[in-house]
Amino acid sequence: MTGPADDGTHATGNIPSPTGTGQRTAATAAHPPDHAAYEAGTVPITSSGWTTASGALPAHAPLQGDLDAAVAVVGAGLAGSSLALHLAEAGIDVALVEAHQPGWRASGRNAGHVLPTLRDRRVFERIADGGKAFLELFREHHTITFDLARRHGIACDAVQSGYLHATQRRGVFEKLKAAAHYWSTEQGQPVQFLSGDAMRAMTGSRYYTFGVLYRDGGRVNPRC
Ligand SMILES: Cc1cc2nc3c(=O)[nH]c(=O)nc-3n(C[C@H](O)[C@H](O)[C@H](O)COP(=O)(O)OP(=O)(O)OC[C@H]3O[C@@H](n4cnc5c(N)ncnc54)[C@H](O)[C@@H]3O)c2cc1C
Repeated sequence: MTGPADDGTHATGNIPSPTGTGQRTAATAAHPPDHAAYEAGTVPITSSGWTTASGALPAHAPLQGDLDAAVAVVGAGLAGSSLALHLAEAGIDVALVEAHQPGWRASGRNAGHVLPTLRDRRVFERIADGGKAFLELFREHHTITFDLARRHGIACDAVQSGYLHATQRRGVFEKLKAAAHYWSTEQGQPVQFLSGDAMRAMTGSRYYTFGVLYRDGGRVNPRC
């Protein structure tokens, strides 16, 4: 890990993996990883569909020596990176430690869909406040991906093009509309119900006849 960057954050380090794997096992497009590597979760980021075309970003140098910080965040995925960034912005001396390189695991290889909704709110029924605190934060920050890209000028192909939940079946459409009610009324999100020609115009196809469009969603390139 290197020292603090100009903006007060610490540069992300690259320490050897506990398993001794990581970039030293890097496969190339010519030599794709084998089944065992997928099963073990050791497929290198260079084999991701996002990086094979354009290459992985350069890795940071390994941590040399000791480093003092008020807070150490372990893992530079979406969660750790966001936490470290917001701590640094709050003036807290933070070090972000990564075993491979930022976005090495799920954060650098996902589908890149930025959804402004949660799959199942029933999970909050088991939490003391019914998830009130979390859902209030979600309401305030559900566009955080786009906000951070704009604020820091991150060239990650972030496009707030909307998230379209599409279906061919009217019965499913009614359920999707019912689920959307919470997001439009309680979370204040712009939501549209589409069918027929509007769906065709949106998708360029007649395959899906119904859809719920969440305007605040979109996409991002996880490689960045
Ligand atoms: C195939 C797939 C598709 C997905 N598609 C989407 C999508 O379209 N939209 C969406 O919102 N979500 C999607 N997700 C989910 C999303 O990618 C994850 O929820 C998110 O990336 C998790 O981030 P994280 O920071 O918690 O974990 P991770 O991304 O796993 O980051 C953890 C980091 O910690 C590091 N680390 C672990 N142990 C140590 C250690 N001991 N020391 C130092 N570093 C360590 C790892 O190397 C890694 O970089 C998808 C996930 C997958 C797998």
